[in-house]
Formats: sequence, C-alpha cells, structure tokens
Amino acid sequence: AAVAQLADWNGTGATADGHRVKVYGNVGSPADAQAAADAGAEGVGLFRTEFCYLDAADEPTVADQRAAYTAVLSPFRGKPVIVRTLDAGADKPLAFLSPEAEPNPALGVRGLRVAFDRPEVLGRQLEAIAGAAEDSGAEVSVMAPMVATVEEAAWFAERVRAAGIARAGVMIEIPAAALSAREILEAVDFVSVGTNDLAQYTFAADRQLGAVAKLNDPWQPALLRLLKLIGDAAKATGKPAGVCGEAAADPRLALVLAGLGLTSLSMNVPAIRAVGASLAAATLAECEALAEATLATSNPTAARTAARP
Ligand code: PEP
Ligand code: MG
Repeated sequence: AAVAQLADWNGTGATADGHRVKVYGNVGSPADAQAAADAGAEGVGLFRTEFCYLDAADEPTVADQRAAYTAVLSPFRGKPVIVRTLDAGADKPLAFLSPEAEPNPALGVRGLRVAFDRPEVLGRQLEAIAGAAEDSGAEVSVMAPMVATVEEAAWFAERVRAAGIARAGVMIEIPAAALSAREILEAVDFVSVGTNDLAQYTFAADRQLGAVAKLNDPWQPALLRLLKLIGDAAKATGKPAGVCGEAAADPRLALVLAGLGLTSLSMNVPAIRAVGASLAAATLAECEALAEATLATSNPTAARTAARP
C-alpha cells in the first residue's frame, strides 16, 4: 500500500487534509532545473548561483549572469523561484570572491559576509537576477546565505528592493539567526532554513568530515528545537519559512517539519515525489503530533522511532 501511495502524488504539496506545504526543487544548473520541473516541483526553493561559477577566474559580467540565470529559471515561467546570491566558502571557493587563506574558513568571510566588503559585486548580481526574472517570466525571490543578525538581514533586503526585486529573504543556517527568527522575519519577506549548515554550526561539527557525521544528523532533537523556533516565528508573523537543506528530502522528517510549522520543503530532484506523497498521506494534526513526539526525545534514534508510522 505504501508503494502505491508513493506512486500517486498529484503534484500539489499538501497534507491529507489540505494544509499547503509547497514542494520545491534545489537546482544549480539548467539541467537540474529541467529535471526538477519534470519531477513535478512546484517551484525552486534554492538556486545555488555559485554553482554556475566554480570554474570562473573572473567575475562574470552582468549580461553573462543574466543569460546564465535565465537558462535556469526558464522551466519555471509563472512559478516561484528563490535565487540565492553567491555563497562562496571553503567548500565552494570562487576565484574572484574568496578571501585570503583563513584559519577557520567555515567561520570566516563567506556567504553574505563577502558582500559587506564588496557590495558592488552583490549589486551587479542583483541587477542580473532582476533581468533574468524579466526574461524568464519566473516569479523570482532572492535570498542571502550565511546571515547571522537582524541588521544583516535588513541590509540585504534593502539592496534587493532597491534592485527592483519584489521579495527578499534570508537563509537561516547560523544558530544566532534561528534564535532571532521572529525579528528577522519582521525585516524580510521570508526565510529558508539551511539545515546542512545549521547542523554544522549548532554541533560545532564540520559537515565535510566523516568522523563527526553522527552529530550532523537532521533528526538531532537540538536541531529540531531550533526548527520549532523558526516554525513558531512563521506562524506569528504569517510569513513563509521553508527548509532547503538535506533534512527536507527525508519523507518521514518532512512530516515533522510540516508539524513544526515550516511552509515549504526544497530538495534534490530524486526526493520530490516521495516527499510529496508522504505529505499527502498524513493530516496536519498527525504531523503536529509527530513533531511533538520527536521534540520530547533526547537523541536521533529515539526521534526516528517516535516518528515511525
Ligand atoms: C544548507 O546549508 O543547508 C544549504 C541548503 O546550503 P548549502 O548546502 O548550499 O550550504
Ligand atoms: Mg548552507
């Protein structure tokens, strides 16, 4: 029966009783975007723009960026797409942006922090994104990676709006931002949780290091408690709060996230149908009960057990 259910997702992300939880794709190239559209994604919850420029020696021109982004956005004409501004970091170095060697690159000048020193690079990227929104007809929002404070969120939103882009958001992937989710949501139009980095920074465990992978488990109750703060902030402000880290791709955890109040889930293409089908098979009240049960546990194994069907 479970297999039959997985086969027939109708393409609209919602619980069995109709509570909407949008199901989006994570993309980094035109091929990814086409695959996400073909898999039934309702939109794009994370377009990692830095993936377009991992091999670029120099900053791409506005015209080149506009064309590259249009190619990714085009399959989503009339649909929502969240474009993330360049997220250069130790794991994704960009030759034209990356800082001098740092002792702790994960804690250094990465993500939005690069833009404080080089706002003109951000300005040119926003100009290109606004152009690509026009060319593609996609409903474009823009968000910043690695935001720590309300001031940073407000600084970014002001620039996005000045570029003529309607919706500005930020990622929540630093514990300080999760603890300020309410105030951050008041300063922007939406947030999206990067659970990969949020786990890394919450557990002080390098996400690229196999030796500490057990700590970076998305079922860790401490991570779920931070996600609850963000879900509560979404409910209090009436603004969207999505998840675009790997946690969103687990069909069972997706129910917990819906129960915590998150409003969209964005994932790699292969997970889209399974997550859509999982949501469609549970009511919101059931999701809320699963969320409450997992929050009351003290380790990931117990959290998984508490969320079993
Ligand atoms: C995350 O940190 O969870 C995220 C979605 O961003 P990235 O994996 O690109 O750092
Ligand atoms: Mg991240």
